[in-house]
Amino acid sequence: MLKLIALTLLSSTAVVAQQAPAPTPPDYSKVSIVTTKISDHLYALDGAGGRIGVLVGPDGILLVDSEFAPLTDKIMAAVHAISNEPIRYLVNTHVHGDHTGGNENLGKLGVLIFSRDELRHRLNHPSPAANGTPGVPAPAAALPVVTYEGPVTFHLGTDEAHLIPVLHAHTDGDTIVRFSPADAVQAGDIFRSVGYPNIDRINGGSLRGLLDGLGQIIALAGPDTKILPGHGPITDRAAVIAQRDLVLAVRNRVADLIKQGKTQQEILDAHVTSEFDAKVGQPATGGDRFVGQVYAELTAAR
Ligand SMILES: [Zn+2]
Ligand SMILES: [Zn+2]
Repeated sequence: MLKLIALTLLSSTAVVAQQAPAPTPPDYSKVSIVTTKISDHLYALDGAGGRIGVLVGPDGILLVDSEFAPLTDKIMAAVHAISNEPIRYLVNTHVHGDHTGGNENLGKLGVLIFSRDELRHRLNHPSPAANGTPGVPAPAAALPVVTYEGPVTFHLGTDEAHLIPVLHAHTDGDTIVRFSPADAVQAGDIFRSVGYPNIDRINGGSLRGLLDGLGQIIALAGPDTKILPGHGPITDRAAVIAQRDLVLAVRNRVADLIKQGKTQQEILDAHVTSEFDAKVGQPATGGDRFVGQVYAELTAAR
């Protein structure tokens, strides 16, 4: 009996290490939207949740991601402070609520929503929560109206936004957006410049896809390209290379320990990320979760 209890405790620790801590919703009334000009027609908006990209064309505006529903009014005000053109299109980089929460409000205003097929499917058939509670399907107005499998290009006057699908990376519905001639890449949560990477395996993410996505961003970017991470300060190609190298280092260390016959708990206890904790910021949220995800990826039956 005692042994059984010990095992149960051990396995619940292991599960916790793999899953994101339940996010505390921010006090939206206190959130203000910060606007950053990236180029003549491209802006970034930061409030709470994932960063938003705003591309202003001569006849309308394209948004990339929509943050949380209670922030829509503030986001609209920030967009209107940039331009009086109507918001016509919205692209979601992935399914998470801090990137799609404003979809319903914008959809009801007539904004045409675009996403990967997989993202639309997950909004409609959400995964259960970590505790097994069934997910609640998104309202009809929140669902993307146009879905795509391959690359898509928006032409807004002289500006282009290239949607580049990345399979099974942070989730299974990720899109990177490359803006030209703005010379910027919006990475969604495939790349965050604060905290450890997150492979959301429940929503179809994978280690191989995450590495592929980071590799694609590195390949698309030049030394002066502005990189807009899903979370964390706007940065450059060198920071994405450092992130890719971190992922490879953690993968190699965890793989070595698995080869030595270590258990998941022993691997977590080895703190293989300790040298990176200070660099990535927010170490409290990250190292163990990411190591747990890498362990799960490397030990999963393929
Ligand atoms: Zn996010
Ligand atoms: Zn995310």
